[in-house]
Amino acid sequence: MNYPNQTLISLKNQIVNCILCDLSKNRINAVPGTGNIHDKIILVGEAPGKNEDERGVPFVGSAGKILDKALTESGLNREDVYITNIVKCRPPNNRVPTEVEIDICINAYLKNEIKLISPKIICIMGATALKSLLGLEHLNKHRGKVLQISSNKYFVTYHPAATIYNIKLKEVFFKDIQKLAQIVKEDTSTLKDYL
Ligand code: SF4
Repeated sequence: MNYPNQTLISLKNQIVNCILCDLSKNRINAVPGTGNIHDKIILVGEAPGKNEDERGVPFVGSAGKILDKALTESGLNREDVYITNIVKCRPPNNRVPTEVEIDICINAYLKNEIKLISPKIICIMGATALKSLLGLEHLNKHRGKVLQISSNKYFVTYHPAATIYNIKLKEVFFKDIQKLAQIVKEDTSTLKDYL
């Protein structure tokens, strides 16, 4: 049960048929966001990879396994969160999506996902998502922090793919997800303590 809301169902249908940008030309499947919309935790990555493109599901490859493990160890599960990406189609050879592709996709879909779910917190994973969503550089400056921007709260961490070959980054990523879990388990009124 990923899309109980008719408007999100419509959004998913638009995404799987979308040809708004050039990333539609080489994809196997567009990859809509998926997961729990009731606990109001959104995790945002960069773009689908090979496995995600083949299956049409986000974070099912090696980065997804790391994310799943980090969520489980923090007491959260994949079923507790909604997972999506800045762009919904795999860039050729896993290149970084262009500004144009990002701009089109965010405005068509991610902004609507956020509006419809109205999350307590949005976890931004990786520098591309940070730059694309908030216009911020220097991920390490913001990592592990809650940012209040307009009416939304954001938590910033590494993209799990960045931690695959780096044990130190992986440790930090796992700690960040634990911190995220701690934040969302507490009353939202205490979120200000993390700002
Ligand atoms: S990346 Fe986004 S805007 Fe581009 S074709 Fe895919 S769904 Fe459409």
